[in-house]
Amino acid sequence: MTLDGPPIEELRLDCYRFPTEQQPEQDGTHRWQATTVVAVTLSAGGRTGLGWAYSSTAAATLISDQLAELLRGRDAFDIPAGWAAMHGAVRNIGNRGLAMQAISAVDIAWWDLKARLLDVPLTGLFGRSRETVPVYGSGGFTNLTDDQLRSQVDEWSAAGCRAMKIKIGERWGADPDRDLARVRRLRELAGPQVGLMVDANGGYSIGQARRVGQVLDEYGVIWFEEPVSSDDLTGLAGLRSALRCDIAAGEYVSDGYEAARLLPVLDCLQLDVTRCGGYTGWLRWSALALAANREVSGHCAPSLHASVAAAVPNLRHVEWFIDHARLEPLLVDGCPPVVDGALRPAGDRPGHGMTLRPEADRWRID
Ligand SMILES: [Mg+2]
Repeated sequence: MTLDGPPIEELRLDCYRFPTEQQPEQDGTHRWQATTVVAVTLSAGGRTGLGWAYSSTAAATLISDQLAELLRGRDAFDIPAGWAAMHGAVRNIGNRGLAMQAISAVDIAWWDLKARLLDVPLTGLFGRSRETVPVYGSGGFTNLTDDQLRSQVDEWSAAGCRAMKIKIGERWGADPDRDLARVRRLRELAGPQVGLMVDANGGYSIGQARRVGQVLDEYGVIWFEEPVSSDDLTGLAGLRSALRCDIAAGEYVSDGYEAARLLPVLDCLQLDVTRCGGYTGWLRWSALALAANREVSGHCAPSLHASVAAAVPNLRHVEWFIDHARLEPLLVDGCPPVVDGALRPAGDRPGHGMTLRPEADRWRID
C-alpha cells in the first residue's frame, strides 16, 4: 500500500444561517438570533470530505482568499503539512480566532476526506479509547421561561443525560439571586441524581464569582464554567483554590500556547473542534491536557466531536448544546445518535459519516 494520497483538487464553500428557536437566546454576556455555519467540501481521488465551523461568513471569505489556493495539489494524506501551511498563511492577519475557525473547518473536511479515501471510519483512523462518548445536556438560556427550561430538561432526561448545564451570570452578573434561583429550579426539574453544571460566560466580577460559587458548592454544583473571563488566569486560579466545584474554560482556545496557559488554572479544558484547529488541534491540545493530568470536554458541535472525542483517554464528556443538537440533523444526514446519554460515532461508515442534506438549502446564505 502506498503512503501517498491523491492530490487535493477542489474546495467548495457553503454557508447557512439557522435562526434560533426562541428569539433571541441569551447568556450572561451575549445575545444571538441565529447560528451561521461555514461548510467546506474538499475533494481528491473521486472522494469528498466535509467539515464546518460555527462562525461568520467572514471565515468563508478568509478561506477563499487565504487558504484555498495553497491547498490545491497537496497530498490528501499529509494533513500536518497542510495545517502548518494554513497556519503560516494567516500570520499577518492574526492566526487565532476567526482565522483558526477557518482552518478548523478545512482541517475537519481534510480528515473526513482522508478517512473516506482509505474507506475507514474516522474512529478507525484516529483509533479508539472508548466505544461511546458521554454527553451532557446544555442550554438553559437566561431568558427562557420556566416552561421552556422544563422542556429542555425533559429532552435531556429522555436522552439519558447524567449531567445538565444552564447559563448564569445574567446581564453581566446584574442579578445573582435570580441566577441561584434558576439553579435551584434546575435541581427540581432534573432530579437528585443529575450532575448540575453552570456557565457564567465570564459575566461575574471576581468577588461575585466567589460568593456565587460558595452557594453553588452548597447546592452541590459540580462544574462552574467561565466564572470570570477566561483571560483572567489569576482570577480562575483563585476561584479554583476557594471552591469545591470544578472550574472549566477553554472554548476560545485557538492553539497550544493558549491551552498551556489555561491548563494550570482549571480542572477541565474545554476544546472546540471548530475553533481550536479542527481534529488536528483537538488531538494535540488534548495531549497537552493529558500531560498536565487534566480532563478535556468537547465544546458544542456534538456531531463533529463524536469521533475525535472517542479517541482521547482523558475525555470527560461532550457538550450536547441544544442549538447545535437541533440544527445538525437539518444540516447533514448521518449525525451520530445520542443513546443512553452517549454519542455513538459513525460505526462502519467511512469518515465521520455525515453528508450535507440537499434540504439544508432552505437555510443557505450567499
Ligand atoms: Mg461556555
